[in-house]
Amino acid sequence: MSNSNLFHTTKQAVFLDRDGTINVEKDYLYRPEEFEFIPGAVEAIRRLNRAGYLVVVVTNQSGVARGYYTDQEVHRLHRHIDQLLSQADARIDAWYHCPHHPSGLPPYNQLCSCRKPRAGMLEQAAADLEIDLSRSWIVGDKLVDVEAGIAAGCRPVLVLTGYGVDECSLLPDTVPRCQDLAAAAELIAAV
Ligand SMILES: [Mg+2]
Ligand SMILES: [Zn+2]
Repeated sequence: MSNSNLFHTTKQAVFLDRDGTINVEKDYLYRPEEFEFIPGAVEAIRRLNRAGYLVVVVTNQSGVARGYYTDQEVHRLHRHIDQLLSQADARIDAWYHCPHHPSGLPPYNQLCSCRKPRAGMLEQAAADLEIDLSRSWIVGDKLVDVEAGIAAGCRPVLVLTGYGVDECSLLPDTVPRCQDLAAAAELIAAV
């Protein structure tokens, strides 16, 4: 074993956007009963788990700032998703959401550093979980996901689910496009 392996203590992560990437895009989703996985997403998450990546969700939830649902309801939905995943032997290692919007209601009406395209959620996760961002990936269906990943030093992938087809033309050609999360996981696991 080389010294570089001995001292390789940081981890690789795959950051996942939530809406339109893991689950079917529904405007301002917060009700567990309306949550619906995109086909192949559960298997993709399990595959990334087994490939040794931390799987970390980073999701903008401005619906909190807009007063459409509460921070508590975001947590409740995430616990519901955790339960569904555990039944399939898959796991989200950590959840980060941004509840802010500059024109939202107090106390959420902030120009924060966590709302994508800013990199705050990825940087917080890196600090919390000892993630090496330069060896990590982000997968999302919007330009802001790709931008947040690039700002953090991660390799981006755009999925063509959710808003992906519409957002595709906004991105540099160098960003890989994948049909869905299943295809993205295959690409990442093959590297
Ligand atoms: Mg999305
Ligand atoms: Zn925020």
